[in-house]
Amino acid sequence: MSLEQRDKKYIWHPLKQHQLNPDSLAIIKAKGCVLTDEDGNEYIDAISSWYTCMYGHCNDYITNRVSNQMKQLDQVMFSDFTHQPAVDLSEEMMKLLPDNQAKIFFSENGSTSTEVGIKMALQYFFNQERKRNVLVAFENAFHGDTFGAMSISGLSVYNGPFEDFLIDVKRIPVPNGDNNQEVLDQLKIILNEFPVAGFIYEPLIQGAAGMVMYDATGLNDILQLCKEHQVITIADEVMTGFGKTGKNFASDYLAIKPDVICMSKALTGGLMPMAITSCTQDIYDAFLSNDISKGLFHCHTYSANPLACTAALASVELLQTKEIQSAISVIVNSHNQFSKRIENHPKVKSTRSLGVVFALDLNTNSERYGGLRDKLLKFFMERGVFLRPLGNTIYIQPPYIITDKQLEKVYKTIEEALEIV
Ligand SMILES: *Cc1c(COP(=O)(O)O)cnc(C)c1O
Repeated sequence: MSLEQRDKKYIWHPLKQHQLNPDSLAIIKAKGCVLTDEDGNEYIDAISSWYTCMYGHCNDYITNRVSNQMKQLDQVMFSDFTHQPAVDLSEEMMKLLPDNQAKIFFSENGSTSTEVGIKMALQYFFNQERKRNVLVAFENAFHGDTFGAMSISGLSVYNGPFEDFLIDVKRIPVPNGDNNQEVLDQLKIILNEFPVAGFIYEPLIQGAAGMVMYDATGLNDILQLCKEHQVITIADEVMTGFGKTGKNFASDYLAIKPDVICMSKALTGGLMPMAITSCTQDIYDAFLSNDISKGLFHCHTYSANPLACTAALASVELLQTKEIQSAISVIVNSHNQFSKRIENHPKVKSTRSLGVVFALDLNTNSERYGGLRDKLLKFFMERGVFLRPLGNTIYIQPPYIITDKQLEKVYKTIEEALEIV
């Protein structure tokens, strides 16, 4: 029996309606930008396996480092101990992060990184006996699937059954350049009416919403207003972090720096699950006390796992090399050329790109989770390209090390798809 057949017996997949879509393709190998299935078919991983493996799958530099670490120290409790990979990584992260970031807190995935961010904001006020219990987030945001992260996310397909159990969150639209003043006015009303502890946002690109790109000036004004009201600003850089937008962090485009930054996905180059929530000295200091219960009591068994820290350290080193930085510029230029090639196509409603993230909206009326998306996915896979449309949006987020030839194949396949929609 094939893996695909054996899978069906016991496995329940995430994000899947098994009754409509029972098959899961078995991937037996991944190297560089290429995934290989159990029948030997190859696929270019044009979305970096959910924005993780930016230096290529099974990157030799990262795997060698992790493999050496594995023989030295595999796992130890981080509540009681520290270790070299975590200390080295913290020092390296400080070089990379915006200047106002001072402390690093480890967890296991993107959802927990935003959970920790929310807890930092809520407990910051609690510890000072200033009760603030409301959060502000953008419409159509996505911050993860655990309960806190779900509360701040605004995509109802994920949250529907749980809405009665979530934290109190007020929503504002993303600023698009035209509505900036209205968004600010809405926020002002919320800030005057409710005790807002934190504002969480995906800086400049809303990933799961369909790679929605929005106005940096508008965001900056929002952050400014939050500062004036002493609201903790939390940048969810889980997708945008580590070079995706052409800078190390999307927050580097903004004059006002966030108080808290959430990171995961590309942090470990796709090798290990891990997350970091960084924060300012001011936030950290609000948790210092002779009273034990004022500490941040959030811990995962595998917090700061030495192997994951090693994968992250190797990844962050690679990110800062000339090779990777110039590879990013090459992709930025290619995306711009491609955009010119297709922007006047009758099936293309609009294109946009920032850094290595490119997106186009199709000129169709199909529903977000309608048949078109599945048809496109199948079309791409049959041609050896893994792209995962979000509703009517086709987007690319390739590993930095993708070759010109591979990237051209991705573009060509999208152009072919435009002819069949
Ligand atoms: C993927 C993602 C998350 C959730 O990360 P998980 O590791 O899947 O829990 C949170 N925020 C953003 C912006 C993401 O892209």
